[in-house]
Amino acid sequence: MNAVELRARVHGLMSSARDDLAELIALRSVAGPDDHTTAECVRAADWVAETLRGAGFPQVRLLTVPDAGPTVYAERPGGGPDAPTVLLYAHYDVHPALDEDVWKTPPFELTEVDGRWHGRGAADCKGNLLMHLTALRALGEPLPVNVKVLVEGSAERASGSLAHSLGEYAPLLAADVFVIGDAGNLAVGVPAITVSLRGQVALSVTVQTLETAREAGPYAGPAPDALAALLQMLASFRDPAGNTNVLGLDNMTSWGGAIYAPARLREDAAVLDGVGLLGNGAVADSLWARPAITVLDIDYPVRGEHAMIQPWARARLDLRVPPHVDEAKAAQALVGHLNSVAPWGAHVRMERESTVPPFLARAGGPAYAALAAAMRDVYGEEPAQLGRGGTNPLCVGLAESFPDAEILLIGVEEPLARRHEPDESVDPAEIADMALVEALFLRRCGRVSPMAGEDPGGGGPGR
Ligand SMILES: [Zn+2]
Repeated sequence: MNAVELRARVHGLMSSARDDLAELIALRSVAGPDDHTTAECVRAADWVAETLRGAGFPQVRLLTVPDAGPTVYAERPGGGPDAPTVLLYAHYDVHPALDEDVWKTPPFELTEVDGRWHGRGAADCKGNLLMHLTALRALGEPLPVNVKVLVEGSAERASGSLAHSLGEYAPLLAADVFVIGDAGNLAVGVPAITVSLRGQVALSVTVQTLETAREAGPYAGPAPDALAALLQMLASFRDPAGNTNVLGLDNMTSWGGAIYAPARLREDAAVLDGVGLLGNGAVADSLWARPAITVLDIDYPVRGEHAMIQPWARARLDLRVPPHVDEAKAAQALVGHLNSVAPWGAHVRMERESTVPPFLARAGGPAYAALAAAMRDVYGEEPAQLGRGGTNPLCVGLAESFPDAEILLIGVEEPLARRHEPDESVDPAEIADMALVEALFLRRCGRVSPMAGEDPGGGGPGR
């Protein structure tokens, strides 16, 4: 089967892809702790397991993780004794629909609007699961490599994530290449590979200046106001240009990959007219290559009409950590910064809530080259290199467990997909094109061992 025939097969499979996606979106497998969503997650896991059996994977297992729906695991050998193993990842749990009244279409019903398929999970990540399934169905028998499929039910939950159970399942999941289908292109029709994910330090800081609240009338002036102290400390985190400034953390690094146009960020982030973007580097620099701090919440004890001086005030902070920066050092720098800027001898107490390391893919490996070549075949251009602001503990865990493996993030979640927001949608052309990319990529991987470091470009499909 040549590349033209493979493309025709993918297109012939798109109506079943649509039917499958409609069934899957109708399963409300929302990540959450209550019994109803757990039952829907179990139904979604059963659906995925059954569909994988139908796609030629007789061995399907359900892996249990604490407090969330099971992870579906399947494998099928292919490509002969020396063939590499490629693991394809997606997740079936979805972000909550949030306010259903805000949606233009019913969130759990696949609805076509202007050629896009709308519904919660249409892109993240049920659309990516359909990308994997369509690629595997198009390749048929025999597969060019050993394929493992992993479809998680706990990706959208920080607590129950499969990442925490990796130690238990690592021997089962071992692979030469991990294709994490939970990302997307630069734009529809513009290919991209996501190569880095930011880490995160979450911390709360409490500042105390008085034993108890005091009235402003008799005491304002000399009495130290804890809320004012906290605001002064928080203000120290930005320079006049809006760059995040944490003492001891470099904030001048540049991003070497794709450009993120300021106009597009304004639209994606819903920035109001006349309000400026922060930082004096390019958007991609401050988004993917530099530390960034956000004040999540401020709390203080006295509310209401009385004019009182606050005795204490607390802020919750979120520090995004770029690749190349150690998250533990970043946390130390944040603590040191807060201690050094606290005014008036105020008492400062800090509590670390969570820490997630950043992730940096190995972009020079043979699997990366094979994927880039498949993208050139399908889209006619070199893929851009993207970063991602969000964390992904699973990628970090896989990189730690399998240091020699290549981990590649791709998928159908381009910016118009509005993942995690109301009106999520997917462009079916992206499912078709990315399924073709994946099928061609698997065939290229079958021609060379990704571990051997040969050039996978020669004799590839479409040449
Ligand atoms: Zn996702």
